[in-house]
Amino acid sequence: MAVKEMIYEGKAKKVFATDQADEVLVSYKDDATAFNGEKKGTIVGKGVVNNRMSNHLMQMLEEKGIPTHYIKELSERDTIVKKVEIVPLEVIIRNKACGSFSKRYGVAEGTELKQPTIEFSYKNDDLGDPLINTYHALALDLASEAEIAEIERLAFAVNDALIAYFETIDIELVDFKLEFGRYHDTIVLADEISPDTCRLWDIHTHARLDKDRFRRDMGDVEEAYLEVYKRLGI
Ligand code: UDP
Repeated sequence: MAVKEMIYEGKAKKVFATDQADEVLVSYKDDATAFNGEKKGTIVGKGVVNNRMSNHLMQMLEEKGIPTHYIKELSERDTIVKKVEIVPLEVIIRNKACGSFSKRYGVAEGTELKQPTIEFSYKNDDLGDPLINTYHALALDLASEAEIAEIERLAFAVNDALIAYFETIDIELVDFKLEFGRYHDTIVLADEISPDTCRLWDIHTHARLDKDRFRRDMGDVEEAYLEVYKRLGI
């Protein structure tokens, strides 16, 4: 497999073409951003943690029948994934109130929700990823009705699998963001599952082991990422 030109550079990852038309190489960076790029920094070692953690979790999800973009880890920062067309929706699942949900509905952070919720944002940096409902997504032709139904089904299945998995390492899954892609007429889980994209709380102390430490200047950011990595035992 030969690596070719860079085709995309995002906030946390670079994507390179390969000699396989339907495969790309993703390279994870230590760069961190928050608030739609307004806050910038570096979290030393983050790229390694996110790459290896995401790959580990995607393989676990594949074993449970959830299709993902994962193909092969090449090194601690680099992974070969299926070249998908990203559906421009950020899919957020919440088990407890936190962040924007707490603000929007006036519910204290950490409040247990009666049932898990799903919400979508329109993935568009210029607009600041606005909240969107499924009727808007259909009206804007961002995805088909069948795709949205499949995304919802997969997102809740991912939630069930991740809650159970994180419980075994004493971590509570508060909420997380997923992205899906189109690959040969099927919807597959893409992007990453990491402390950048999940709220992960220690089950006993409720210590935040995720990007909120960076967003909210709580300190010990690197330590939190490493703590999650250590507990994964990979
Ligand atoms: N999230 C993400 N990328 C985004 C926005 C949110 O990965 O651009 C994740 C975030 O880490 C959290 C969940 O989605 O686990 C819900 O985030 P929320 O809507 O509460 O946004 P925030 O409070 O970060 O603005």
